[in-house]
Amino acid sequence: MQRFLRHFSAKRTPQGLPIPASGQVPNNAGGYSWTVDDWTQLDRFLILGSEGGTYYATEGRLTRENAEAVVRCIQADGPRTIARIIEISETGRAPKNDPALFALALCAAYGSPETKGLALAKLPQVARIGTHLFHFLTYIEGFRGWGRAMRRSVGTWYNSKTPDQLALQLIKYGARDGWSHRDALRLAHPVPASAAHELLYHWATKEEPEKQGLEAEPPELLKAYLQVREQASAEVAVPLIRRHRLPREALPTELLTDARVWEALLDEMPMEAMIRNLATMTRVGLLAPMSAASRLVVERLRDQERLRKARLHPIKVLAALVTYQQGFGMRSRESSWNPVTEVVDALNDAFYLAFGNASPSGKRIVIGLDVSGSMDGGVVAGIPGMTPRVASAALSLVMTATEPDVTTLAFSDQLVPISISRSQRLDDVVKSVSGIPFGGTDCALPMIWATERGIKADAFVILTDSETWFGDIHPAQALRAYREKMGIPAKLIVVGMVANRFTIADPTDRAMLDVVGFDTAVPQIMADFIGGRL
Ligand code: CA
Repeated sequence: MQRFLRHFSAKRTPQGLPIPASGQVPNNAGGYSWTVDDWTQLDRFLILGSEGGTYYATEGRLTRENAEAVVRCIQADGPRTIARIIEISETGRAPKNDPALFALALCAAYGSPETKGLALAKLPQVARIGTHLFHFLTYIEGFRGWGRAMRRSVGTWYNSKTPDQLALQLIKYGARDGWSHRDALRLAHPVPASAAHELLYHWATKEEPEKQGLEAEPPELLKAYLQVREQASAEVAVPLIRRHRLPREALPTELLTDARVWEALLDEMPMEAMIRNLATMTRVGLLAPMSAASRLVVERLRDQERLRKARLHPIKVLAALVTYQQGFGMRSRESSWNPVTEVVDALNDAFYLAFGNASPSGKRIVIGLDVSGSMDGGVVAGIPGMTPRVASAALSLVMTATEPDVTTLAFSDQLVPISISRSQRLDDVVKSVSGIPFGGTDCALPMIWATERGIKADAFVILTDSETWFGDIHPAQALRAYREKMGIPAKLIVVGMVANRFTIADPTDRAMLDVVGFDTAVPQIMADFIGGRL
């Protein structure tokens, strides 16, 4: 008998070959994987972005691949694409808003006339602050000219704000990336919605300065801004900050070394600005062990409702924790500070709280962390230091914290002994996975491990880039072999950690699911899927 099955079997195929008639394609690592559909790719792009590329793909190639997938979504269903962009952007499920702005610009450029109109009409929902608007304008200029619809849309962005809101935008987000309000207002040229708008437009565009204040009083915030620019002293600034909520961006830089100024700013400081300025506030002496300001910061970091409202993304909390606790910045070791322990601990708690509360599935779960070499390339959402490997380790702890019955193991082309636990602080976890040596990739190992040991699991959760190639059986086949041997209909969740096209989940198997790493909705989605509630 010729042993055909040695060469062509659907149950056991080396990862360097496709599973027969499965639709698998070559991945970047010399193995075969499936590809996700364009809608999942859209989610991956919106949440993970393409900044920094991956281990295998340059930023340029990754961006092109993602943009092409987004355009295919737009052509298939423009309104659905826009709805998804808005949903991910507004709920703060993504660490950064740039991919959403870029995708919306694609909708306004490559959609049907209706889709283009809808994209421009929804601009204020995705571009919520001046910087967002400038980024959108930068992106869209790469695809199309202004035209009447664009002018109207940008004009509405300005006119729909109250004079106070508008003044804040003009002061706080003056100019970014080659764009200023002056440029945008000159191109959009809106008919002012009120006399106060007219005054602010004149002020921002510096046209006919003698016209300023012709018909309206400047908003109080603008007056305060002008005053603090004229008299740059803490004595003048502190009461103005308190009374008018002057933001940090409004202040002359020489004031930003004064603890009294920071103390006043802290009162109304948005959460993201707060975690970004922890080092500065420590350096100027405001945050110190047991100081009132430290207590305030700690209290806010443990306030889940506040975190939710601020849309503070957990990966930004993680990045802030890793930087703050080391006592020196990424750019220079010269500007160091003594991290306040209470603040570090509160950042650790805020990371978990920022994911919201997932209701656990209560099932038996094996988490497999891909710690192979490729997971050390690129950065999640362009955040310095957040490699897919470091990010996955932190992410796995979120599930460990909510589910009662979890085993975590790490693998490359073999199992990698690591010990990480919920009781460790995240920066220790980051350190312990950062030092793992490079290795190949066999994503089937968690299932093989559980099969060989007779481990009872209802679900395998694998955090990976799906660039698997090493093993002599595909992960999906290893899962089927596990189900057969153990008599458990175990599920598989693939947590995609980079915005490439690949997945080890068989798209025809309804018990396998693709989710996107660091989507804040993911812990709940995973628990619902594992618990059979989806
Ligand atoms: Ca790899």
